[in-house]
Amino acid sequence: MARLRTGRAEDEELVTLVEHDACGVDAVQVLTGCTFGKGNFFFRDYGKHVYTVARRSDGKAGISAKPKRRGEGEPASKDERSRRMLVAPLDELFDIQEVPLELPERASIHDSVQCDTCGEPTMATRVRDAGGKRLCVPCSETGLK
Ligand SMILES: [Zn+2]
Repeated sequence: MARLRTGRAEDEELVTLVEHDACGVDAVQVLTGCTFGKGNFFFRDYGKHVYTVARRSDGKAGISAKPKRRGEGEPASKDERSRRMLVAPLDELFDIQEVPLELPERASIHDSVQCDTCGEPTMATRVRDAGGKRLCVPCSETGLK
């Protein structure tokens, strides 16, 4: 975010992509202000600790941060590692680089339609057609047609 010269997102001016769903992404949401609810936080299930943040205003490039591997001489104690991380320069902790990025679409609001099986309101873009019935994903996958 320092490289982008930006503060936290108030709305959709920033976009964040994360490539894993472990605890670290909670911190990324707090720091960037990008959240699932705002529609500017995207999860790619690649199992990698890679975080990419981009500004929509000039969105040609994002800043990607990849944690560096721990080296020898790293303290064994989790508390000591945490203390060191809090004072270490960012370049010591992360490989940070500008990356080309195709920005995801802005968040949009869709109508809900009722699933013909369970009756639950479902976002229209997620409803599947099954032989003329409109089904939510779980109902379409369990074969309850
Ligand atoms: Zn259903």
